[in-house]
Amino acid sequence: MIDISNLSKRFGAFAALDDVSLRITPGKLVALLGPSGSGKTTLLRILAGLDHADGGAVQLNGLDAGTLKTRDRRVGFVFQHYALFRHMSVADNVAFGLKVKKGPDKPNKAQIAETVGQLLDLVQLTGLAGRYPQQLSGGQRQRVALARALAVEPRLLLLDEPFGALDAQVRKDLRRWLRRLHDDMGLTSVFVTHDQEEALELADEVVVMNKGRVEQVGSPADIYDNPATPFVFQFLGNANRLDAVVRGGRALVGPWTADAPDIADGPAVAFVRPHDLDVVPGGDHAIIRHQVVLGPTVRLDLVLDDDITAEAIIDRESHARLNLRTGDRIGLQARRIAVFAAP
Ligand code: ADP
Ligand code: MG
Repeated sequence: MIDISNLSKRFGAFAALDDVSLRITPGKLVALLGPSGSGKTTLLRILAGLDHADGGAVQLNGLDAGTLKTRDRRVGFVFQHYALFRHMSVADNVAFGLKVKKGPDKPNKAQIAETVGQLLDLVQLTGLAGRYPQQLSGGQRQRVALARALAVEPRLLLLDEPFGALDAQVRKDLRRWLRRLHDDMGLTSVFVTHDQEEALELADEVVVMNKGRVEQVGSPADIYDNPATPFVFQFLGNANRLDAVVRGGRALVGPWTADAPDIADGPAVAFVRPHDLDVVPGGDHAIIRHQVVLGPTVRLDLVLDDDITAEAIIDRESHARLNLRTGDRIGLQARRIAVFAAP
């Protein structure tokens, strides 16, 4: 178990981490998700023992991490930019953590060679042991970095935007592959990303960060279906933000009303996902300003009353059936509206 309690970290007057508490269960793949500057790397570096917090504590299996030597923490680290040693072969890169071991744990040459061979098989780079980093593709280099991190049999694997610099397709492949590796090896992993799709696809648990604080922790489905704050709703993308007015537990949101049981009367803010808007024939809620075909769906760029803009996404079949044209007036039904107190 990794227990992070009330962690804070300042750089001058700036709070990079502000009272962060979090518990990481062994065996889980956890995503730290947040915009650039939200404190993800800072938190990861403190977990790795590369940096010290100003306040709070990290406990690894009940032991204060601050008292453990970096070597005894058994933490593997993979950075965004494949920080391989350029002048070392793939095999030497992977062997690095083994060669620097000291004392009775220090493996001999034959043992190192065997482990390196196994790790290269594992990351599907069999036969490339003699190559140098510049003779590899980006995806291959990142897998070497991962093999190097795994060589020390980490208790905890930390990955900081490990696929950030790679092409979309390679990224996708490596994501799935990392998920399998994590499961097969029984790792505990913490993975930093600013890409919500990556976090939702890959993680068991998503920690959404904003301005050095944890906004929400939950399963990907939880985070997507029940965003706890306006920030989470907007950061997960694909949300129409609308002004609302609450009266007696009901909110007026554009042409709709929604339950708002715990929100005080007055101005509020509401979110509707484009997928949760259905077009109803014959209604008069919006004008279609623009239509964009996106693979199996069509995005409708809409203008509601009072010049409010919104997007709806419907499937191609419904679109064809409804025979929608740019400039048409349409009715809209909102299947789900989330209302929050005005920030
Ligand atoms: P993220 O990884 O979420 O993009 P970081 O943890 O790298 O965010 O940084 C959080 C904030 O702390 C940023 O605003 C960054 O500029 C600041 N910061 C990080 N490291 C340092 C440092 N060594 N000195 C000064 N400011 C820093
Ligand atoms: Mg970062």
